[in-house]
Amino acid sequence: MIHTSHIELSESAVKNNIDFIHNQLDKNVTFSSVVKGNAYGHSIEYYCPLAYKYGIRHFSVFSAEEAFKVKKALPTNDYTLLIMGYIENEEINWAIENGIHFYVFERDRLDATVEMAKKTGTKANIHIELETGMNRTGFQLEIIDSILANVEKNIKYLNIEGICTHLAGAEDLSNYHRITAQTKLFEATQNRIKKISWMQPKWHIASSSATLRYPNTQLDIARIGILQYGFFPTKEVFAHYLEKNKKNKNSLQRIITWKTRVMDIKTVKKGAYVGYGTSFLTNRVTKIAMLPIGYSSGYSRSLSNKGTVLIKGKRLNVIGNINMSMMVVDITNIEGVEKGEEVVLIGNQKDTEITVSSFSDFNQQINYELLTRLPQEIPKIITK
Ligand SMILES: *Cc1c(COP(=O)(O)O)cnc(C)c1O
Repeated sequence: MIHTSHIELSESAVKNNIDFIHNQLDKNVTFSSVVKGNAYGHSIEYYCPLAYKYGIRHFSVFSAEEAFKVKKALPTNDYTLLIMGYIENEEINWAIENGIHFYVFERDRLDATVEMAKKTGTKANIHIELETGMNRTGFQLEIIDSILANVEKNIKYLNIEGICTHLAGAEDLSNYHRITAQTKLFEATQNRIKKISWMQPKWHIASSSATLRYPNTQLDIARIGILQYGFFPTKEVFAHYLEKNKKNKNSLQRIITWKTRVMDIKTVKKGAYVGYGTSFLTNRVTKIAMLPIGYSSGYSRSLSNKGTVLIKGKRLNVIGNINMSMMVVDITNIEGVEKGEEVVLIGNQKDTEITVSSFSDFNQQINYELLTRLPQEIPKIITK
């Protein structure tokens, strides 16, 4: 079957972004490529082998299900795979047998891990997550001594690979005090725990924003998501980067290009409503093109009467409401558009570009959300 749209992934952009990130990291910091959310919509299956090709040997995912996909995408065993979020107790033995690292942030998972490691006769590779103020997952610091006592007692079954936390929004300066408090608390705990000789964990805390804004948080591992796909987490982080590095242009490159085709064309008369309801009334004889893309394809309904697409290198307006599987664009101003004509939804055509952030600005989505809402089944191809 031919899908109604496809995504092109630029291999040179992947390389560019990975090189850029390596340049931002101190020499001894491991770059963990965060590929949760199906590699932020880029697909684990395609993105991971590319990242591997350009030197990545550490991947982080949210769930065991995603870890399974990474393993499938990368047939070798010379990389580390880390589950940062969800793993069922029943999946723990699969993780242990496959040498997969995973976060432990609650007693039940710790107990299940010890039990599974005993059964399989293999040590579990765990990262102990600390609660430092995000108030999401992580052991409360008040109980950390009793947790560590439990860990020490079972050290035959556990490799303490990491101790980590997550910052509550390093991308916004408005969170400065909260982030600083978290970092300080983490450091204090680190100084205290470092004296314990029976473990030599890697310490990690930074994601994309903290890596750039607070380089002292890079520690042993930086868990980087959005930057590798060619986006700064927010405009603020981008502005900060430009200023700090005395740069005037973006060093990252968008990997993704999203394309579809014109499925039908017609001319409607002046004074006619287009599509459902009355949200768009023609004020002239209007030539329209129908595209087989709708909100079920990942094109947000809030772009009704607002979105733009590229045809023949020209920026054209979406008119009327975005339907579930279709949308309409006004092609009155360009000549020679035919059924089957290439349409760019995100990306470049000739000298014009539709950026992901142009979408996000319109509909208050963040880059992250738009990308991960692209349906997994959209076919991907790798381009130069
Ligand atoms: C998603 C995630 C990251 C990566 O965040 P980016 O802002 O995309 O770099 C890092 N750590 C954890 C725990 C995450 O969930």
